[in-house]
Amino acid sequence: MTILIQGAMDIELDVLKDYFKPTEVRTINGYEFCLCEYRGNKIIISKTEVGIINATIATTIGIYEFRPELVINQGCAGSHRSNIHRGDLIIGEKAAYINNFRTRQAKLLGEGSDSLSWRPSNSHSYVIGSTPIYVELAERVEYAGKKYIGVIGSGDLFSKEVDRINYIHSLFGELSEDMESVATMKVCDSFNIDKIALRIISNNEITNESFDGNVCRTLQQFVIPFIDKIIAR
Ligand code: SAH
Repeated sequence: MTILIQGAMDIELDVLKDYFKPTEVRTINGYEFCLCEYRGNKIIISKTEVGIINATIATTIGIYEFRPELVINQGCAGSHRSNIHRGDLIIGEKAAYINNFRTRQAKLLGEGSDSLSWRPSNSHSYVIGSTPIYVELAERVEYAGKKYIGVIGSGDLFSKEVDRINYIHSLFGELSEDMESVATMKVCDSFNIDKIALRIISNNEITNESFDGNVCRTLQQFVIPFIDKIIAR
């Protein structure tokens, strides 16, 4: 089968590249794709770059160019729960777009802004599920740390205001916040392609755990046996 594995940043992809040993690197419209052969399968390692727009473009190019049967979006995320810590892993049963708000009350010049009163806008709001069989397979991959299954939130934002984090959580129930996964889910959904999102917590602004990119390597170490399980199916 052909599997497209995504990460936004180099630190989210280096272990995978070392392991799958690409035979070719292709840059298409500025987005990098590393082509690998693995036990009779094709693994494409895609660097989406950071953010919703980049992830949307990179996923669309990846699908048209390589026709994957499965897209895995993986990388780091901020925790939106006080009891979910750096190094904990989240299997994204669903991805929610948490960055589509409408101002509720008009405020005049000088009256400031109150993001805690904003409401999710109906248009273009979505919550999209990962393909259930891959959620089940990911659940069965061993992980030394804590593993959660739930909603991962995603949008062009990096939240550090605890009241707003809790407000967003009250609306969407997300365990974490990242900047790509929902874009991948949405594109795959519209192309009818299987997908799953995996995130590892790199920071928790509620408990003051600052960003640590090293956790991205731990997640990639999880993705490798996950790929083996998928292939062995
Ligand atoms: N280079 C930055 C870290 C990148 S943050 C730094 O040194 O601070 C943005 C990337 O990390 C995005 O790809 C996003 O998916 C992920 N990410 C990690 N924590 C996040 C958070 N709390 N909110 C949003 N995105 C987060």
